[in-house]
Amino acid sequence: MNAGPVVIVGGGLAGASAAEALRDRGYDGEVILLGVERHLPYERPPLSKSVLLGDKEVGSAYVHDQTWWRDHDIDVRTGVEVHSVDLAGRRVVTSAGEQPYEWLVLATGSEPRHLRLADEADAPVHYLRTVEDSLALKDSLTDGAKVAIVGAGWIGLEVASAARAAKAHVTVYETADLPLLAVLGPEVAQHFADLHTAHDVDLRLGAAVSSEDLSDADVVVVGIGAAPRTELAEAAGLAVDDGVLVDELLRTSDDRVLAIGDIANQQHPVLGRRVRVEHWDNAIGQGKAAAATITGAAEPYAKVPYFFTDQYDFGMEYFGHTGPAGYDRVQTRGDFNGPFRAWWIRDDVVVAAMQANDWDASDETRAIVGQAPPPD
Ligand SMILES: Cc1cc2nc3c(=O)[nH]c(=O)nc-3n(C[C@H](O)[C@H](O)[C@H](O)COP(=O)(O)OP(=O)(O)OC[C@H]3O[C@@H](n4cnc5c(N)ncnc54)[C@H](O)[C@@H]3O)c2cc1C
Repeated sequence: MNAGPVVIVGGGLAGASAAEALRDRGYDGEVILLGVERHLPYERPPLSKSVLLGDKEVGSAYVHDQTWWRDHDIDVRTGVEVHSVDLAGRRVVTSAGEQPYEWLVLATGSEPRHLRLADEADAPVHYLRTVEDSLALKDSLTDGAKVAIVGAGWIGLEVASAARAAKAHVTVYETADLPLLAVLGPEVAQHFADLHTAHDVDLRLGAAVSSEDLSDADVVVVGIGAAPRTELAEAAGLAVDDGVLVDELLRTSDDRVLAIGDIANQQHPVLGRRVRVEHWDNAIGQGKAAAATITGAAEPYAKVPYFFTDQYDFGMEYFGHTGPAGYDRVQTRGDFNGPFRAWWIRDDVVVAAMQANDWDASDETRAIVGQAPPPD
């Protein structure tokens, strides 16, 4: 075992997962989790779903309670910002002083991309990343409010769903011709357009939003994607290119520093190329894999990307990654509002698969990815 301390920068899901997995693997050195937010580590998916809908309290999103962290001897320091990393001296400089490390795990996540036009609008503008963002937005989604959402990605569409549940009037602006077009392709993206139209969302597709569009809104929500928080890594001199570059074991260009979660641009052993994944499952899995690397188990992180969404009564899971090479054809089965399946196929290999409204189908859907030739 290493002498420690393992210092983890970023108290989000990936950082929390790494800390927990170190203890699961029997690591008995010091583990310090430094996070600038004033919360214990929490999961973000509920912030655009159950918490935003008012169905669940914020506490339900916490990864563990205070007692659990204490019982596992993990030193979670909230409200502490890491200002810089000294690779040669193996220490970080924080708002609470200096902290040496034996291993450093960077898990600084991502932050919403801003849209100046929206920031300059008269109506209050919301971005959605933190607990505070979610609670503030929830208060704005009221009966009859005119809500303008910029971006028909996952966050924009989940907010649209929550806003309709609150009986707000919802308009969604999207430059692409369909919601989620880049991720799903037109065949399946069209179903998402239909789903929202059926719930009386006014979808304005294929055009950039203008100031005039927003002038009439009571609330503006911007969901145009997120950017990895790589400033620390870059300033330290680590290799960065659309995220912190890591190998199959999540090691950065400094072999005592790992990067995981939203910021990690990983050489993926199964996909055979680099990929940076901004999803819940990846944060958990890479946290576990980082603990394996630190404890000498050297298990490459090889899971294919996975994500899920809930909108209205519709829920889905998607496994795989079509990537820059795209796909040749899509096969679907079933009704989108009932049990539904879709498979994206390239060169007779299933590169991605999705199930909707049928959670028993998860394992089978996951297992199909990579199959060649595709099952009948
Ligand atoms: C509203 C919302 C809904 C989502 N829904 C889904 C979903 O349904 N399905 C899905 O698969 N994924 C979803 N995601 C994505 C998923 O939550 C992220 O992929 C995941 O949170 C990434 O975890 P992370 O630990 O890498 O980053 P984060 O969760 O962003 O955590 C990083 C933490 O590091 C802190 N930090 C950054 N810099 C410093 C510093 N210098 N010093 C100290 N602390 C620092 C940040 O404040 C933050 O707390 C959603 C994300 C959001 C925002």
